[in-house]
Amino acid sequence: MSINSTAQREVVVPRAEDVNYPHVGPTSRKSEPEICSLCYGTGMEVVAGKGARRCYCRTLDMQSKLLEAAHISRRYKECSLSNYDPAKNNSSQLLAFNYAYRLVREYPAIERGVLFMGTVGVGKTHLSVAILRGLIERGVPCLFYEFGSLLREIQCSYNSLAQISEMNVLSPIYEAEVLVLDELGASKPTDWARETMTQIIGTRYNEKKLTILTTNYLDQRSSPAHETLEDRIGVRLRSRLYEMCKTVIIEGEDYRRHFDVESISDN
Ligand code: ADP
Repeated sequence: MSINSTAQREVVVPRAEDVNYPHVGPTSRKSEPEICSLCYGTGMEVVAGKGARRCYCRTLDMQSKLLEAAHISRRYKECSLSNYDPAKNNSSQLLAFNYAYRLVREYPAIERGVLFMGTVGVGKTHLSVAILRGLIERGVPCLFYEFGSLLREIQCSYNSLAQISEMNVLSPIYEAEVLVLDELGASKPTDWARETMTQIIGTRYNEKKLTILTTNYLDQRSSPAHETLEDRIGVRLRSRLYEMCKTVIIEGEDYRRHFDVESISDN
């Protein structure tokens, strides 16, 4: 969505490339070490008449370290609020975008986590990563995990030959200031996995740490053959999630179909 076409949108987020930081950048030629032209490598920028402040080059450096540590898969690394494009006349996508934007702006004054719910390809992971990116730009450490791979890592830690213990895997999950758990219910959990999920989400909620979840399963059965989220994760965990997360439903078609149309028109 181009920034100029956001008349109906509540907020406008500048794209990173549109933000001009004219003074930041290397002063040197290729063969010389790169030195910031704003702070000359000191990390502090002198502001005439006001004193000194942390230089923007150090902020960029910190952001890229936080982004690296967030464990976001390459496929989603570029997802941001500015390249989320709500489908025309789709109020659920616009509402979801606005909710994500407000969350980034108002954090840490957020009481409950978020559960993005919707069918495949409607942009749940995109928006979750966009929130992480927005928070990272504000200096908040974040972590992204796909549920299935988290459970596999925990299970693997039970293997006596494994070098890592369950706590090694779980501590970053408990401690991350903001955590995305993607694809809740993708695999049908065992009793143990349900217990682990409840424990993770409950502990984080009690510690007032923000957790963002996504699921492809809905609360209503769309057809007799389709399972609900409750079918997938159990009544107890679904009930805990009502308490701990605001449910944001995203409707629409699978956005990935766009890629197919684009590749046909490319040929
Ligand atoms: P879901 O998590 O709902 O299954 P994803 O977030 O993984 O869907 O989206 C699938 C792909 O489509 C990703 O590459 C994502 O960046 C892109 N995508 C989905 N919705 C949008 C959107 N509204 N604007 C831009 N890209 C989108």
